[in-house]
Amino acid sequence: MSGADIREFSRPMTGPALVPLIDAIEAGEKPVVAAIEGMALGGGLELALGCHYRIAHSKAQLGLPEVTLGLIPAAGGTQRLPRLIGFPAALDMIITGRRVSAGDALKLGIVDQVTERNAGEVAVAFARSVVDCPLVSRRLSTWPPLCPADLDNILQMALARAWQRGRGALAPVACVQAVQAARLPYSQGMQQEQKLMSMLFASPQARALQYCFFSQRAVGKWSMPNGACWDNSTARPIRKAAVIGLGTMGRGIAVCLVLAGIPVIAMETDEKQLEAARRVVMALLEKEVQKLAVGLHLGLIHFTLEQRYLREVDLVIEAVFEDLALKKQLFAELSSVCHPDTLLCTNTSQLDVDQLATATSRPDLVVGMHFFAPANKIKLLEVVFTSRSSPEAVATAMQLGKWLGKVSVAVANCPGFVGNRMLRPYVEQAGFLLEEGATPEQVDSALEHFGLAMGVFRMSDLSGLDVGWRVRKAAGLTGPGVPQGQLLQTQQGYRYSPLADLICQKGRLGQKTGCGWYLYEGPGGHMARPDPWVHAFLEEYRRVHGLQPRSIGQQEVLERCLFALINEGFRVLEDRIVMDPVALDVIYVLGYGWPAHTGGPMYYAGEVGLPRVLGRLEYYQRVHPDIPHLRPSALLRQLVAKGSPPIHKWMWHIEEGSSRL
Ligand code: NAD
Repeated sequence: MSGADIREFSRPMTGPALVPLIDAIEAGEKPVVAAIEGMALGGGLELALGCHYRIAHSKAQLGLPEVTLGLIPAAGGTQRLPRLIGFPAALDMIITGRRVSAGDALKLGIVDQVTERNAGEVAVAFARSVVDCPLVSRRLSTWPPLCPADLDNILQMALARAWQRGRGALAPVACVQAVQAARLPYSQGMQQEQKLMSMLFASPQARALQYCFFSQRAVGKWSMPNGACWDNSTARPIRKAAVIGLGTMGRGIAVCLVLAGIPVIAMETDEKQLEAARRVVMALLEKEVQKLAVGLHLGLIHFTLEQRYLREVDLVIEAVFEDLALKKQLFAELSSVCHPDTLLCTNTSQLDVDQLATATSRPDLVVGMHFFAPANKIKLLEVVFTSRSSPEAVATAMQLGKWLGKVSVAVANCPGFVGNRMLRPYVEQAGFLLEEGATPEQVDSALEHFGLAMGVFRMSDLSGLDVGWRVRKAAGLTGPGVPQGQLLQTQQGYRYSPLADLICQKGRLGQKTGCGWYLYEGPGGHMARPDPWVHAFLEEYRRVHGLQPRSIGQQEVLERCLFALINEGFRVLEDRIVMDPVALDVIYVLGYGWPAHTGGPMYYAGEVGLPRVLGRLEYYQRVHPDIPHLRPSALLRQLVAKGSPPIHKWMWHIEEGSSRL
């Protein structure tokens, strides 16, 4: 039982209500034993907490995930759980919404017994053994709260954690407030729980989080412009896979495959790289084994330098350097080494997957599988199909992503695909804001205050500034042969900020070199500190280029960066790179740290109001006519002209033939 049917939330609720039902079970004179198999989540666990005993199957999972939907457990969960397992453990489960295994539930004291056998049968036998025991001590609502001496301190720290984790989300804070009320007599605590729930239930944040929940399921129903879709395409089984290139990404991808139980051939170019990768991958896997407390066959992975092992794999994921010539050569080699039916996938973040496909003997079996760093943690996978990808290849990559525990989103091939394409105008605006007078920390703090996991400059320092530098060089925007001096500020006819290139030229590549837009404690450091050198560098740059610095407010930072990103999102829709705006929201929430409680960039645009987004873009475009990314997209204009329809109707307004596919 995984709690409420969320679809019911938008309709008038029908009875019977859960709270009186649970109270009646708890108050009853017959002992009630909850037999838990599978999931006991949300209302499911709250019901179990109202029972007098709980028996769980060893594979069961328990949790109160309401916070992830912008709510709190409101059928007594916030009042009974702290009474049962204490405030600190209950706060942790309720604020994070995390699930615990049956074994952990036993250690925490949530269940009375764990069994490998049929939980129902064990529960019946258990019931017989306790039938004569008095029930008075089994009614959790009558238990006095377990208040440790330092409870105030515990609650204060939980509140601080809720603010920090929530990045502006209300529900984690309300969770702490509700649990805090478990200090009061049960009936008063319940009143407080109901009050907080009513406030959240009607909140825009809860609506946005519920939209996220449904969106992440909706993207599984993918489709392609040629009519192929999830419903009419069959995925192939992947019995064995290969990962080629075991750098940052390849290592994480190999770990994901092994954790999913898929045998992996892991390949590198030389012994030294292979050994370095082996150490990291095995350490990551051993950590997972300890964490999950599950048996994992570490022999599933075979490290090698020899291509002959690739003959036996069903699918290859290439993660070598971001270099088109290198990847094309590798794909040509793979065509002759691998079985003709082997799927060839690339983890490229920017390169043209169509071009890679043409380098192979089987363009129909080539797709992008774009993972996000760290690949063993981030739940997003962009599956990039080309004009020639077969439905079967797309279905297989989508299915494999799911098998690896990712949310897979099918997107058509275009420069940067979806996520990185929308990111470009956002990063670009941030650079212009520095030229106009802002500092990296001003820009980042505005974005982080909005709820992004990391501001643009901290994120760039983390990824490495050389990544974008290489892309800009390849695009002819910087590097040898590109004019210097005043002209630096325009490239290819448009405004261009060379600030990031200049920073890279100084050897400041971000965290890995100990400095970038910020200063770190040393190479590989994580603590970003404002850097006086960067401030002086910016001042000198503005002086040389005759730029008069001005004071830039938080609102301008948000509008320039976020609306430019959203505007590109509308262009992605116009080009039909995806079939539905929900895909863009899923990609940004899961892959780019966009705050889920705003729904994602496109949903957020709808909430702000499309006329407002359009109006502000028009305003900024008048002020900066040389920035094409601020020119409102045709789709945005059209939607506003049609009275700003809701997000699920946006695609109806795309003109036929606008797609560049
Ligand atoms: P990396 O430089 O960390 O690793 C690349 C690895 O490939 C190196 O270990 C190198 O020795 C190996 N290699 C090179 N040529 C090879 C060959 N012919 N055969 C076998 N191994 C070879 O790079 P990375 O950051 O892991 O990126 C890999 C790919 O993933 C790139 O296409 C990149 O654009 C993409 N990507 C990177 C990120 C990221 O955040 N780093 C995110 C998504 C996608």
